[in-house]
Amino acid sequence: MNQDSSSIGFMTGACGIHALSAAISIAMNNISDAKQSIQYLFKIAEGFNLSAMFESEVLYGFAGYMLSILFIMKHLPEYIYDINKAREILDKCFIILHNSSSNIVKFSFHDLKYIGAAHGLAGVLFTMLQIPLKKNSIYKEKIKESLDVMISYGKDGKYCRKVDDPSKIFQWCHGSPGIISTLLKASEVYGDEKYQQLAEEAIEETWKNGILTKGNNLCHGISGNSYVFFQMYQNTRNQKYLYYAYQFYQSSISKRIQVHSYASKSKGINLMEGLLGHGCFCLNIIEDPKDAFFPGYDNDIVYL
Ligand SMILES: [Zn+2]
Repeated sequence: MNQDSSSIGFMTGACGIHALSAAISIAMNNISDAKQSIQYLFKIAEGFNLSAMFESEVLYGFAGYMLSILFIMKHLPEYIYDINKAREILDKCFIILHNSSSNIVKFSFHDLKYIGAAHGLAGVLFTMLQIPLKKNSIYKEKIKESLDVMISYGKDGKYCRKVDDPSKIFQWCHGSPGIISTLLKASEVYGDEKYQQLAEEAIEETWKNGILTKGNNLCHGISGNSYVFFQMYQNTRNQKYLYYAYQFYQSSISKRIQVHSYASKSKGINLMEGLLGHGCFCLNIIEDPKDAFFPGYDNDIVYL
């Protein structure tokens, strides 16, 4: 297996493969393989320090690595791995990502400051907000100012793609849909109605903006946007959001969209840009939407 630590994101590199391998090994009752996969995963963090040359973001950076750790914390029993080690690694990543002089988390990608989920601030914050927090944790206060920065780039439910770029787009990787997930998680963690209201505004804009023309994928396609409807339904139990998700699903299985998704713009079967993400969405439509979560991103660990 490729140990190249230049790809440290769950969605794009070896870390995601190690985390998934561990979960699959446990499902097959192969404890020694599971432990070995976790050993590989933890070992990558040994090279992390404040001057480490990795991006901050979810797709390729530290936040993506944290998602791998959160993934095993969600899916693996504690006797398989050292939970204190996992927490220690999350702490280490948090310290690297939090700029103590500005009190704002790092979120540049190739020296550009994106606001959304895949490459930007919303994704880093969403990941940090999933760290199992004790009540009144110092983390919560350290993240709050960064949430205010994220919110400052939105108006009436529409969010800028990046700092110094007023263009607004509506896809999970950039723009309002990815930001909605962070707002809803913040509402859950801080119990502040403000975040819920902002998420509701952004979700109506996402619905009004309609069907994306970049296929059915999770990253910038119909399936990714649909997951925020599930998340909002879980928060509010308002059936309207299930209706939104179902309408997007209907469009996603129309012949015209299918041809567009899997022929001209095909990215194979991978999770974020390929067939697999749409498969997950279809399963969540058929099964109970109360249990739906954005694959590889929302690890929904119960707060301690
Ligand atoms: Zn994308």
